[in-house]
Amino acid sequence: MRDNIDLKYYEERLKERLEAIIASQESQKKEGGAPVELDQGRVGRLTRMDAMQQQAMSQAAARLTDLERQRIQSALGRMQSGDYGYCIICDEEIAEGRLAFDPSILTCITCAKEKEI
Ligand SMILES: [Zn+2]
Repeated sequence: MRDNIDLKYYEERLKERLEAIIASQESQKKEGGAPVELDQGRVGRLTRMDAMQQQAMSQAAARLTDLERQRIQSALGRMQSGDYGYCIICDEEIAEGRLAFDPSILTCITCAKEKEI
């Protein structure tokens, strides 16, 4: 258990972010996550290519959001077990600056550079 960082603060931030992600994923689900409608009436001046590009971008964004959600859930789990703030690869303490930047970060800077997680 790290006693040199404010765990409560990071936990709050993680939970807030997780709630925001879940809310946005829920609302996207309600909109159907629908395949792009290509009928001219709705799409207007958007070309088919534009529409497909937009769809690819929103799918990529959705994947990133999903990964972030997994990272946050894993970080919260590590908080429960007292492992939060330690690198998941080498077990060294993660610099507080990294956690302040993104509380869901799970690796120290050295391992992040090697593994790009
Ligand atoms: Zn490490």
